[in-house]
Amino acid sequence: MRILVQKFGGTSVADIDRLKMVRGKVKAALDQGYKVVVVLSAKSGKTNKLLDLSTRWAAEPDLAEVDSLLSTGEQASIALFSMLLKDSGIKARSMLGWQIPIITNDEFGRARILSIDASRIHKELEAHDVLVVAGFQGSTEDGRITTLGRGGSDTSAVALAAALDSCECEIYTDVDGVYTTDPNLCSTARKLDRVTYEEMLEMASMGAKVLQIRSVEFAKKYNVPVHVRSTFSDDPGTLVAQEDAMMEAVLVSGIAYDKDQARVTVCGVPDRPGVSAALFAPLSENGIMVDMIIQTASREGVTDMTFTVSRKDLEKAIQLMKEIVARIGGTGVEHDPYVAKVSVIGVGMRNHTGVATKAFAALQQENINIQMISTSEIKISCLIDEKYTELAVRTLHDAFELHKPDHA
Ligand code: ADP
Ligand code: ASP
Ligand code: MG
Repeated sequence: MRILVQKFGGTSVADIDRLKMVRGKVKAALDQGYKVVVVLSAKSGKTNKLLDLSTRWAAEPDLAEVDSLLSTGEQASIALFSMLLKDSGIKARSMLGWQIPIITNDEFGRARILSIDASRIHKELEAHDVLVVAGFQGSTEDGRITTLGRGGSDTSAVALAAALDSCECEIYTDVDGVYTTDPNLCSTARKLDRVTYEEMLEMASMGAKVLQIRSVEFAKKYNVPVHVRSTFSDDPGTLVAQEDAMMEAVLVSGIAYDKDQARVTVCGVPDRPGVSAALFAPLSENGIMVDMIIQTASREGVTDMTFTVSRKDLEKAIQLMKEIVARIGGTGVEHDPYVAKVSVIGVGMRNHTGVATKAFAALQQENINIQMISTSEIKISCLIDEKYTELAVRTLHDAFELHKPDHA
């Protein structure tokens, strides 16, 4: 049995006309002899509305109940689409996360998939040509509904493809593939034919929301080739796969940005062993992820520690830092909620120098101040004032001539 996993995002399931286009993609796969596992998201805006609703019903909504509520968006999509398929004579049925089951841990709102029972899916595919599975959701061992974090349907799809040994996974969205930068922000962005898992991981974690980061982690771990394509065109899209010789030649493959950043500076803390641990332990204990970190040079035994967190965590981070400063000493806690991170990404950076210099010079030319820098083997990120995000993305895109197919 050849199984293909096809995932369709929020804009693709927004109304009946679009769902008919989705049906067209599914029919094409059936015509090629596949059995199809279709993973659907909630229609766009639905998850936000449900989230908003939960905050109006309770000051501190119960997280398990929030997940139960959020999962209904996907439930509506799969039921409606299954009806549409059956109406056109296709043998199909819908399946919720717990019906498979897709077992996750109990971190409600950002649960991790622990296992998927592929045998149930195989059995259902004996009787049906298409299984329409709710994305974004799973169930704990003891039967509570969980969700996988925003954009989590991508992860449902790739995890199902891995569990089913499906040869490929197609992620259908509202753009033709993965671009050199967000095509909705930069008109000269160019679609990439191929991108490595590593580059895609960096792009996703740096804010390119075309694929959820965990979906790329899964794809890399289980070596699932992922095709990112548009529901609304026949473009072959972008293949996200292992690095090959051809890809290695590319110096810079893309520019990503992330506006979900806030900066905190803890000023005048003692510069002695154990201080970093004292500052960061309470953040991790409270589930706050720290992104960039800078410690300034020590002056007379004291130092400043600057780091970034997601904006939703800013208030809590400030409160925790004030408590620490009161305990270990320090002159105060400063913050800036209006910062953004722009990143230059490319596997070719491993073997080349000068990429950072070129990026810094380009930003300087536009008078954009760099507040923090972080690097990895294949990425350079700069923290800047949020209001310059679009300008910075376009400037870097131009500087590395990413609009040209042979820019490497
Ligand atoms: P879906 O609802 O189908 O999951 P998303 O909105 O989550 O779609 O992701 C698609 C969006 O990702 C695009 O509309 C685009 O604005 C954005 N995006 C950001 N960076 C990139 C990139 N490098 N390539 C393609 N799309 C990108
Ligand atoms: N509906 C969920 C969200 O909006 C999951 C997804 O679309 O992938 O985040
Ligand atoms: Mg998405």
